Amino acid sequence: MKNDYEIKNSKEVKLSEKVRFRCMRCGECCRHVSQTVVIEPVDAFRLAKFLQCGIEEFYDKYTDMFLVDEKTAFPVFTLKTTGNENSCIFLKGNRCTVQESKPRTCRLYPFWVHPCEDGFSYNYSIERRHHPRGSLVCVKDWMHENFREEDKAAMQEDWRVIPQIAGILKKLQPYDESIREFVLSRMLYFRHFAFELDKPFQIQFEKNNKELIAVLSKRLA
Ligand code: SF4
Repeated sequence: MKNDYEIKNSKEVKLSEKVRFRCMRCGECCRHVSQTVVIEPVDAFRLAKFLQCGIEEFYDKYTDMFLVDEKTAFPVFTLKTTGNENSCIFLKGNRCTVQESKPRTCRLYPFWVHPCEDGFSYNYSIERRHHPRGSLVCVKDWMHENFREEDKAAMQEDWRVIPQIAGILKKLQPYDESIREFVLSRMLYFRHFAFELDKPFQIQFEKNNKELIAVLSKRLA
């Protein structure tokens, strides 16, 4: 699902297309990013490993949590920002200090990828004026280099399970405080915290989603 900002500031492209792109290495894309750089569970898993900290510690130290809406208690995480310019917490000077493990959204930039019926759709950001200049970039090559198999698998899993989870959350409404607490704690545990960093991500993600759906469904019964 694309949000309004993405629709307004991007245009859809096909894998076979070539677009002009110029990176000035100015770090501007990493400033003014309050509540913007979304951290998916697979990003948190990779970054916690890279930073050699626990996964809950990673969320606590480096991210802000907010809810998609007050009704559902569906948590979303974004990277914390610092300073007057709301710079990403990992930006030092003009340099990303987690380059090797930076979130999917940063690796794919200036493209956005969305899951759809046929696989994925691709958008090219036109929010910075200097970007659509410079040399030609083939979308397919960019994706080949930056869109990792583990990101594709995680996105496809979310495409499959999020409608199921959202359906259950809707049936549990209206929430009183105890249901809200129950939903939020289960969502946080199964989708974000219950991962062993020395084991593969995807297999744990699929198992956790399955258990989450079972636990939420049980509450409905
Ligand atoms: S993680 Fe790195 S690339 Fe992404 S916004 Fe932060 S500093 Fe920039």
